[in-house]
Amino acid sequence: MPRVLVVNTGSSSIKYQLFEMPEGSGEPQRGAPVNRDAKALASGLVERIGEAGAKLTHRAGDAEPLVVEDRIADHSEGFERVFQAFESAGGPVTDLAGIGHRVVHGGDRLTEPTLIDDQAIAAIADQAPLAPLHNPSNLLGIRIALASFPETPQVAVFDTAFHQTMPPRAFRYALPRDLADELRIRRYGFHGTSHAYVSRRAAEHLGRPAAEVNLVTLHLGNGASVAAVQGGRCIDTSMGLTPLEGLVMGTRSGDLDPAVVFYLHREAGLSVDDIDDLLNKRSGMLGLAGANDMREVARLVTDGDQAAAEALDVYCYRIRKYVGAYAAALGRLDALVFTAGIGENNDAVRAGVCQGLEGLGVTLDARRNKARSAKARTVSADDSRVAVLVVPTNEELEIAEQTLAVVAGSSNPSLKAATP
Ligand code: ADP
Repeated sequence: MPRVLVVNTGSSSIKYQLFEMPEGSGEPQRGAPVNRDAKALASGLVERIGEAGAKLTHRAGDAEPLVVEDRIADHSEGFERVFQAFESAGGPVTDLAGIGHRVVHGGDRLTEPTLIDDQAIAAIADQAPLAPLHNPSNLLGIRIALASFPETPQVAVFDTAFHQTMPPRAFRYALPRDLADELRIRRYGFHGTSHAYVSRRAAEHLGRPAAEVNLVTLHLGNGASVAAVQGGRCIDTSMGLTPLEGLVMGTRSGDLDPAVVFYLHREAGLSVDDIDDLLNKRSGMLGLAGANDMREVARLVTDGDQAAAEALDVYCYRIRKYVGAYAAALGRLDALVFTAGIGENNDAVRAGVCQGLEGLGVTLDARRNKARSAKARTVSADDSRVAVLVVPTNEELEIAEQTLAVVAGSSNPSLKAATP
């Protein structure tokens, strides 16, 4: 059975997962059924590369995780440690049908998963100004993996790709057209791999073809975004040029009057870098409640902390406003889909979001909403016109599927079409 290694290389980390995929899997079409027979053979994380306290954690099957705490100077050494971990915990990485790399920004040119060659590498490097913290690290991982596995096809899967079906009315900012076009300033959206995966799973759970259902998908993790998905295609999403726009997040403010930036500069004397740091790393739930982790926020609320209670209210209200806006954008809403750490596990947030949405046809079932499960499930009442679903996301599996589909097809239609 084909095996696919999925790699997510960050600035100081490498996350990976090895899958065994059933024969014949790897379906390139949007809206295709999700492959539930894929098996995760091993997974792991290398953290704090180049820093004090570097650590590798490798999990294979039911065995105790292998943990190595040692200096890891750079990403090349990090990958070496990963391959050593595979060898000592069950055998080397062999017989790979493909390696799938998560790449954050594909811009408006890389709109599909793309087989990696020199041209693709140059195109990914071209997007670096749009994601200066992510694309260079993603490329580093690609280069190291290519050197280690020169014979194995490698595929880049972009966080932005699913949102490239947005029409101009959704992706354009009302800025001078020439300036926006020259600098490629527009809404791109992120978490696309997750929105794509859960929208397919949601359609499957509803027993309807993806092409027939309209969904609002809510990815609520440390970062958070919402997408309007019409017949399997994204028509709007809340993150923009960068992941800062939209919902209130763990440490990001989300939507803000842009004039707040000028005001902070003029009144508080903050530099552009200070404000970037403030809005991305010190705002959101951390700024409002003093804690970015929702479990901690919940504890504070239980202890009677007023600021935390208000922060939770701001968090849910922002989401609810987007649900209303996207219901209007879709025209007809069939289901609301919650996913990621908070969406999957926090019933209070789900209740807070759905509260007052009865007019839109959303009625939660309190008992179903409270029941814990790791499976895709319905948490709305039987007579709710709009179904409310909880669908666990699996971005790694989605990347593995898309990688296999590209390897099977071995073509780069989007890249070729965009290349003169
Ligand atoms: P990331 O965006 O880093 O992948 P996650 O999707 O894991 O993050 O989401 C992190 C958030 O999910 C945190 O605020 C955390 O409180 C919440 N969360 C994760 N797991 C659970 C759980 N089992 N119960 C309640 N909340 C959880």
